[in-house]
Amino acid sequence: MTSLSDLPIRDDLRGLEPYGAPHLHLPVELNVNENTHPIPEDVARDIIESVARELLTVNRYPDREFTALRESLAGYLVSTEPGLELGPEGIWAANGSNEILQQILMAFGGPGRSVLGFPPTYSMHSIIAHATGTRWIAGERDADYLISPETAVDWVRRSEPDIVFLCSPNNPTGTALGLDTINAVYDAFDGVVVVDEAYAEFTAEGEPTALSLLEGRPRLIVSRTMSKAFAFAGARLGYLAADPAVTDALRLVRLPYHLSALTQAAAVAALAHAPEMLAMVDDIKFQRDRIERGLAELGYYPWPSAANFVLFGGVSDPEGLWQQLLERGIIIRNLSIPGHLRVSAGTAAETTAFLDAMRELTPR
Ligand SMILES: *Cc1c(COP(=O)(O)O)cnc(C)c1O
Repeated sequence: MTSLSDLPIRDDLRGLEPYGAPHLHLPVELNVNENTHPIPEDVARDIIESVARELLTVNRYPDREFTALRESLAGYLVSTEPGLELGPEGIWAANGSNEILQQILMAFGGPGRSVLGFPPTYSMHSIIAHATGTRWIAGERDADYLISPETAVDWVRRSEPDIVFLCSPNNPTGTALGLDTINAVYDAFDGVVVVDEAYAEFTAEGEPTALSLLEGRPRLIVSRTMSKAFAFAGARLGYLAADPAVTDALRLVRLPYHLSALTQAAAVAALAHAPEMLAMVDDIKFQRDRIERGLAELGYYPWPSAANFVLFGGVSDPEGLWQQLLERGIIIRNLSIPGHLRVSAGTAAETTAFLDAMRELTPR
């Protein structure tokens, strides 16, 4: 049998681990921060009709510039952020925000260049860095997973990266980042600042996002996704907002026709129902708050979360507890943070099942 190490693989990929969230099918799946609420049936019907229409011309290549989709995405973002001026030329999309991040690193990173991130953070950030030959620099956070402007700037000055990845709210900690930190990082160097806002829709109402900083900052990129709030993880649609010059850079590295006609049609149809699609966000936030309260009552230490998941400490045996939940048909996430586990907010019933199991499994 041939093993990976027998192959003439790139030296810089030897010994690396692939993205590895266990993908098991269980009654209660709260492990990868999906939106567990199914999309409303009338929206699903609309999406099916749009995709069906598109299928009739699928012998042709799709719109390489996905113009209708970019208009829909710009319209959606403008509707969420008061005062935001953003047109389709400032939008780019790809098959999930993971592909967005990969394209950014292909255009602005690569061999001889580096990206600074602040673990614990989304594991794909360093994996995509390695895959594109970009050196990953692990910065350090302040206490309570926060990053002050001073700490961030200090890391930028010391490590001289070409790109900085910030994640707000941060996965897996749920921590929201102040706009002052993003601003300070931008001013501290001449490189590209990427703010991964995959969970933006779950932050407190009226809280400005990094979109509000785009004006006059051509090296700032705000990455978003339809995977979480829009319950569209299986459709694969991520996007970014930035100066139009950034999209010109990405055209150099993307594969032509990277977004299928079916993906484009499905996303446009879903965005036409944005308010309905997002109606479940309020319930998810409510369930998240229930988890925070419930875990605290049991003696655990949930970190305040602005996303759709909760990281909690005070777990004496994370792997053991993860296994015991699994035996009860519930999967959450063990990220190997000592004493911690992460759970996604589910439906009311899933959240209740999780909290009930935790009550049973917690020694008094
Ligand atoms: C889930 C997640 C994504 C989403 O990735 P997609 O490829 O859009 O599904 C991006 N960033 C972070 C921080 C995430 O947690």
